[in-house]
Amino acid sequence: MGSLSELFAPESVAVVGATDREGSVGRAILTNLRDDFDGRIVPVNPGRESVLGFDCYPDVGSVPDGPPDLAVVVVPPDIAVDAVREAGESGVRNVVVITAGFSETGGEGAGRERDLVAVAEEYDLSLVGPNSLGVMSTPVGMNATFGPENATPGSLSFMSQSGAFITAVLDWANDQDLGFNDVVSLGNEAVLDETDLIEHWGDDPDTDVIIGYLEGIDDGRAFIETAREVTDDTPIVLVKSGRTDAGAQAASSHTGSIAGSDEAYEAGLEQAGVQRVETVQELFDYARALSGQPLPERDDVAVVTNAGGPGVMATDAIGDSRLSLASFSDGTIDALQDALPDEANVYNPVDTIGDADVERFHEAIDVALGDDGVGAAVVVSAPTAVLEFEDLAEAVVDLQARHGKPVVTCLMGGESTEPAADVLRESGIPNYFDPARGVRSLEALSGYRDVRTTEVEPPAEFDGDRERAREILERAERRGDNRLGVEAMGLLDAYGIPTPEGDVVDDPADAVAVAQSIDGPVVMKIVSPDILHKSDIGGVKVGVENEAVHDAYEDLVTRARNYQPEANVLGVQVQEMADLEEGTETIVGMNRDPQFGPLVLFGLGGISVEVIEDTTVRVAPLGRDEAAAMVDEIEAAPLLRGARGRTPADEDAVVETIQRLSQLVTDFPAILELDINPLVAGPDGARAVDIRLTVDTDTL
Ligand code: ADP
Ligand code: MG
Repeated sequence: MGSLSELFAPESVAVVGATDREGSVGRAILTNLRDDFDGRIVPVNPGRESVLGFDCYPDVGSVPDGPPDLAVVVVPPDIAVDAVREAGESGVRNVVVITAGFSETGGEGAGRERDLVAVAEEYDLSLVGPNSLGVMSTPVGMNATFGPENATPGSLSFMSQSGAFITAVLDWANDQDLGFNDVVSLGNEAVLDETDLIEHWGDDPDTDVIIGYLEGIDDGRAFIETAREVTDDTPIVLVKSGRTDAGAQAASSHTGSIAGSDEAYEAGLEQAGVQRVETVQELFDYARALSGQPLPERDDVAVVTNAGGPGVMATDAIGDSRLSLASFSDGTIDALQDALPDEANVYNPVDTIGDADVERFHEAIDVALGDDGVGAAVVVSAPTAVLEFEDLAEAVVDLQARHGKPVVTCLMGGESTEPAADVLRESGIPNYFDPARGVRSLEALSGYRDVRTTEVEPPAEFDGDRERAREILERAERRGDNRLGVEAMGLLDAYGIPTPEGDVVDDPADAVAVAQSIDGPVVMKIVSPDILHKSDIGGVKVGVENEAVHDAYEDLVTRARNYQPEANVLGVQVQEMADLEEGTETIVGMNRDPQFGPLVLFGLGGISVEVIEDTTVRVAPLGRDEAAAMVDEIEAAPLLRGARGRTPADEDAVVETIQRLSQLVTDFPAILELDINPLVAGPDGARAVDIRLTVDTDTL
């Protein structure tokens, strides 16, 4: 597949299946193209000589002057694949398949889609769809969709897995004066998908911000890698729907995409540097700020207002955000004192009071933005008799440009704000009635600045003993079971994850021998793939003295038999005690996501894990910074750092364990799930005292 530039800037477009029949998709597309398109429009239909005044050709091959740059296919599903093949044979390289009746209908449609993919591969086609509303590209005036609305030109490039969402958004955005560069309805994504588009738009000078509505991401790993690079220069803001479980089911029946778990998306999108939003309003609020304003160098915000209440609202919104209220320098305070009347508040939020005219406002904003400790400003104004909103808007535009710091405004009013809003809009300054929305826009800028400035470190390579690990995993296969428990502790050892001394034995006398070789009392655990939660059945004995080991062995086996007579009991593990006085029980685990691959989890562990949900996930493999961030972001992080007079745990050891586990599960795709619970994190290191995992013996 080559570059996508020709797809978006074709000189000629064929509409295969064009007709002038009222109400037909073919007619709608032709009409939309005719509106504005700079290039040549060629209807293709064997049954007509001309359509809507354009010369019509029986097939793409007979179009004079070489193959069209783009073919838009609207013929019925049973002949759509042949139509695409014919276009490919004639030398067309870019195709948009509008026709529905492919994988979204299952059965026969799925087979048809496979055929379509094969044809696309054979002719190396850049193909959008099938089941797409079409594509638009405003620089060449191309609206090759059958939607009712044309996009206003601008710098946002927009992709959507739902065609209906595009028509709704365009209808709405045109009222908001939001402009688009390219718009793509992805349809079933048989060939081109969201990753291909962000890659293209990442290199497109006409795209300032990439926005999208996605229900699923097929290859999460590829998406993360591409998005990470793209977001170095171009922000990406996405609505990912299918958030709740009920939503996820609706999504999978909608486009036939299997939605991954929401945790995976949350982590994956964040790691990709993508800003995820919840609503269409937020999507465009973010996009507007990112395309119109510079990024703040710091998160300290100045609020300048003529009204106390709304100023407090802005201040509260800042408090709820990742931003903070700037504290002014002495020089700033002096200057504000000079500029403002005595009753004014010269501390942040600056209140210029109700009788402020535009000069006073101008001066206050100028001084605040001039403070080196200020990264951005929110200007809040209620309507008053002494202030013309339009003048204020012009002052803000001028000051924003002069200081080069991001500014948002909240001109609080109805229709009276319109002319001022136009002035602001033209200069890319977001203006909202609600101060909270203005603050959120600044937050988007701050979030994206971090994406741009954070260097994502490649995962460190740890030397794992792969041979030994494989040998242990193969035991599951030999046993005809895909679950492994503490008998697989060696797996951790093979990857340098510390475990307590110990062994699995199948005889009480051997248990005594192992216990005697370990200092102090021991822990004994039943070992059986059929008993996943050992302590639930009394299968874990802690603090067993040497003389009690023999009886404890018999007792554990009896308990297992009573619990489940057919349980496959492999024996008993005799293990050195970990210090739970000084150490904290944490969990490190992995679950394989269908879209993103291995997801690594870290959190508070032990038996409390099911009661207190305090965990975080990332897509593996992980760099050190990402692993460290995981440890940092759980609620219980202070516990590890020595809360209540305890000695702080060796955090580096925990971070390294997360990285080593990440490496293990990346090296062995056959590991489907794995839990180290607990990983005891103490002052002198972290030790894994329990493990369980599931192996896909077929891929081993
Ligand atoms: P399971 O999770 O199957 O119940 P574990 O091996 O995790 O079995 O043991 C349950 C609990 O017993 C642990 O959460 C921990 O509190 C305690 N425990 C297990 N092994 C040790 C050990 N070596 N030292 C100290 N406590 C342990
Ligand atoms: Mg456990």
